[in-house]
Amino acid sequence: MNAKTAKKTQGKSQDLAYATKNGYDRVSPADLKQSDAINALYMDFIAKAKTEREAHDEAVLLLEAAGFKDMARHEAGSIRLMPGDKIYRSCSGKTLMAVIVGKKPMEAGLHIVGGHTDAPRLDLKQNPLYESGGMALLDTHYYGGIKKYQWVTIPLALHGVFVKPGGKKIKAVIGEDPADPVFCITDLLPHLAADQYKKTLGEAIPGEGLDVVVGSMPGPDKGRKEKFKYNVLKLLSARYGIKEEDFLSAELEMVPAGVPREAGLDRSMILAYGHDDRVCAYTALKALLDLKGVPEYTSVVLLCDKEEIGSVGATGMASNFFENTAAELLNLTTQSYSELALKRALNNSWMLSADVTVLFDPMFPSVSEKKNSAHINHGVCISKYGGARGKSSSSDASAEFVAEIRRIFDKAGVVWQTGELGKVDQGGGGTIAWLMARYGMQVVDCGVGLLSMHAPMELAGKLDIYMAYKGYLAFLKDGRK
Ligand code: MN
Ligand code: MN
Repeated sequence: MNAKTAKKTQGKSQDLAYATKNGYDRVSPADLKQSDAINALYMDFIAKAKTEREAHDEAVLLLEAAGFKDMARHEAGSIRLMPGDKIYRSCSGKTLMAVIVGKKPMEAGLHIVGGHTDAPRLDLKQNPLYESGGMALLDTHYYGGIKKYQWVTIPLALHGVFVKPGGKKIKAVIGEDPADPVFCITDLLPHLAADQYKKTLGEAIPGEGLDVVVGSMPGPDKGRKEKFKYNVLKLLSARYGIKEEDFLSAELEMVPAGVPREAGLDRSMILAYGHDDRVCAYTALKALLDLKGVPEYTSVVLLCDKEEIGSVGATGMASNFFENTAAELLNLTTQSYSELALKRALNNSWMLSADVTVLFDPMFPSVSEKKNSAHINHGVCISKYGGARGKSSSSDASAEFVAEIRRIFDKAGVVWQTGELGKVDQGGGGTIAWLMARYGMQVVDCGVGLLSMHAPMELAGKLDIYMAYKGYLAFLKDGRK
């Protein structure tokens, strides 16, 4: 309900009750038109951004085109940033922070929307290539929480980089161009699966059973051992100028091949790889790009790496990248850096932790508690808390902050709902929220609900995607009371 209708219907007894509604019953034709436009752009983005590096590079292209400047060129303090200035900073080509300087000094706090661009996938091992049974295969080590049985028999594409000892970086993508070959992992035929059927879902395909078939033709070299493997090396060498040793300093990911597709006869959904969490990352980025005028508070969008494995590492949210960049920003806006001012800035900040959540699934109703589960097309979802086993490890947002978000969203006509990740003691999950809450800032999880989360193809509702964009934009733009 928005503020206007609340006022109009005040006093009627039914307004005492709360229930979420399908957003399609509540949005204007203008909203629907804009939803189509945003979703088309999002589909373009995720078709190109299938790894965190690719998402980073695509985001940088969009930021540069919108006039954002690379902070690395100004870290020495050669410039003074003024309200309205647009800047971004990269962390190792994977994590990214983009900023529009606000009217108020940074000490008043930042408005941050933070999502992540890494997604569950199969990473190649450091020494991955071998042959067996007259085929060449690549050995993998899965990344993030996958259901391993879902990754066999589907077309896979290889994305990543080889880095030569001299620093030369070679980008590789095989399997996306329709003229490219794809790869796959084999599964056992049902005829011989008597033993496999007895295993649990988690055991039926073991982690070491996710090796990818990449060839079955022996090379022509006479007298050479491992002709199948060597043939693959020759093809890779011809395409990228690499040799087997170059796998040692590479980051190569096997991801589902193909482009995102509209789903449903009504085209109301998007079926795609990596909605988690590019759907929130992109809508946050797009909101920042579309922010008109100078915001009251400095607007920040974070696109992070490594969320799916606990936000660890130099490019994860647990690193000091965000804090260090905030320090640089403070220095560039005030030219008089002080640690106290930085601490105040972070403490006074507001953040939407933009990550996906679960949607109620009619195929699996028992895992959700219906009135506290997000429903498809009921809007962007706010989760006050996550965690598991009695909210353990949850960054429980304060009621006061949730009330502020209610105010901002209702004023802007954002269709939104609340949702928990499953019923109590069913499981649970976390986001980057708690890592930012350490600074004392106000943080709440706010993102798009998904079906089949972490599967090779995830399903999301277009209206929810659009409402995430609309909500993030309102949050970045809106001053505080
Ligand atoms: Mn996520
Ligand atoms: Mn995830």
